[in-house]
Amino acid sequence: MTENRRRYLDYMKSFLWQVKRQQRLEKDNHHCRRCYSTTQLTIHHLTYDRFGNEDLDDLITLCEPCHVKEHKKLREQNHVKPQQNQNRLSRQRSI
Ligand SMILES: [Zn+2]
Ligand SMILES: [Zn+2]
Repeated sequence: MTENRRRYLDYMKSFLWQVKRQQRLEKDNHHCRRCYSTTQLTIHHLTYDRFGNEDLDDLITLCEPCHVKEHKKLREQNHVKPQQNQNRLSRQRSI
């Protein structure tokens, strides 16, 4: 397990995250933002830029099937355009 992955899992168990998660769920009225399902809800990170100190706008409520689709999409994007992804990373570093 990588360091980032461990940090992520620890954070998911933290009280801070539970509170933030709950706030996001309430803002989205406990509905998936893609299909309006009310079951199997999960909170997806739109960006990890502020990981551990997220704005509520960095997060989105999704149901598990939509969440899986979302990550599949992200993986495919990264897979298809590794070049562009590298550019994005180097830009972030220069900020
Ligand atoms: Zn959904
Ligand atoms: Zn996610």
